[in-house]
Amino acid sequence: MTFADLRQKLSSGEVSSKELVQEKINRINELDPTLNSFLTVNTKKALEQAEKIDIQRASGNNLPPLAGIPIAIKDNLCTKGLKTTCASNILSNFVPPYESTVTERLLKSGAVIIGKTNMDEFAMGSSTETSAFGPTLNPWNISKVPGGSSGGSAASVAAGLCFGSLGSDTGGSIRQPASFCGVVGLKPTYGRVSRWGLIAFASSLDQVGPFANNVSDAAEILQVISGKDDKDSTTVDIRVPNYLESLSKSIKGLKIGLIDNCFQHEGLSSEVKESVLGSASLLENLGAEIINVSCPRFNDGIATYYVIAPSEASANLARYDGVKYGFRSKDSQSLIEMTSRSRALGFGSEVKRRILIGTYALSAGYVDAYYKKAQQVRTLIRNDFDNAFKKVDILLAPTSPTTAFGSGENVDNPMAMYLSDLLTIPANLAGLPAINLPCGFDKNGLPIGLQLIANVFDEERLLQVANQFENTADVFKNRPKTDFTF
Ligand code: GLN
Repeated sequence: MTFADLRQKLSSGEVSSKELVQEKINRINELDPTLNSFLTVNTKKALEQAEKIDIQRASGNNLPPLAGIPIAIKDNLCTKGLKTTCASNILSNFVPPYESTVTERLLKSGAVIIGKTNMDEFAMGSSTETSAFGPTLNPWNISKVPGGSSGGSAASVAAGLCFGSLGSDTGGSIRQPASFCGVVGLKPTYGRVSRWGLIAFASSLDQVGPFANNVSDAAEILQVISGKDDKDSTTVDIRVPNYLESLSKSIKGLKIGLIDNCFQHEGLSSEVKESVLGSASLLENLGAEIINVSCPRFNDGIATYYVIAPSEASANLARYDGVKYGFRSKDSQSLIEMTSRSRALGFGSEVKRRILIGTYALSAGYVDAYYKKAQQVRTLIRNDFDNAFKKVDILLAPTSPTTAFGSGENVDNPMAMYLSDLLTIPANLAGLPAINLPCGFDKNGLPIGLQLIANVFDEERLLQVANQFENTADVFKNRPKTDFTF
């Protein structure tokens, strides 16, 4: 069911907003003790909000586009009066006194915030296993991870616990879990969506975006959250097109570039490769021209990212000192002891690792060798994309080299964990919009993800191609049997 179908059902009176919310809450109560995709369920407020919308509908008022539709929010987005933990012990009791711009815009558009979703602590991870509140499981197979860091937002949509959700993507945290959970996930252009109220990880990379069951729902959520925000000076003041209008346009004559470096990687599973290349043929059948392009620095993305992201994180996380807000360790004899103990007990080991790497990379003796060098390579990666977009309109690659891996499989091997972001990170470094689309299943019935990347601020074309693919591929028609019946 799309948002358009839902609106139809709501306006015809077939279902009320309150019933819709209650149905999702019942499903959360039934399935989420296993999946653990929510950290907070906003039961009381969500039902109240839905009731208000039902009253407005009954009195014939014109309702905003997402009126009464239950949406879940990643727990690193501040929600006024609703606990926001970033899946960390250091923020386990933090109740924000203000609303993030994206949630404010969703609320204004009538969406009902059904709860806050689980994630890797401070969005650092690729499996939602670094959460201080236990891992989220993959609804397609509960022995597998849902991906990360926005694993809760992806799993909750895949399991039908909400109709859409918001996540954040610093190096792939929307697209990779979307790929593992078989849903649509979109990372917008850096500057398209406000980061005000998003708990900062790496500020030059972080971007908020939607998870949805289909491309048109993702387009609707993006429509609502996009645009200039005076509270975030990195948002850009350019027109936000009507994304729904272009969805049905033909892609005849569009040039789609296969990034050849992505397909040569030894870690790429043959099933993923086959499925993604098959998707390219499908786009060709729809009239697109497929061209091989090369982005020579693509595979350097991961090394570059793991200098830049931890460096920015080490600065951003300095605010958690036990003084201003968040967890404070008791019984310390000095300020230094109190701060160190608060951080030692409050942060998990992956977060500490990032702070240490970042502090090291920025230290006086090493800043030129690591941080400055990484920034230079970042520019080269962006140049590669600029050159590619002189030849093609859209780029195509797998989202992740593999399908969902097993729970616990990579927890003791950070390098293996980091490599799962190989194909998503370059778009963050270059600030480009990119989307994951389900494109098939592996032999174990796990979803495979296709990634499309567009030039800056060309979400319109990205969604158009994605929608044409989705309509033709009809991937879910023959979906395999799953642990949960959705
Ligand atoms: N998995 C990557 C990391 O651990 C990306 C995370 C993200 O996009 N938030 O940093």
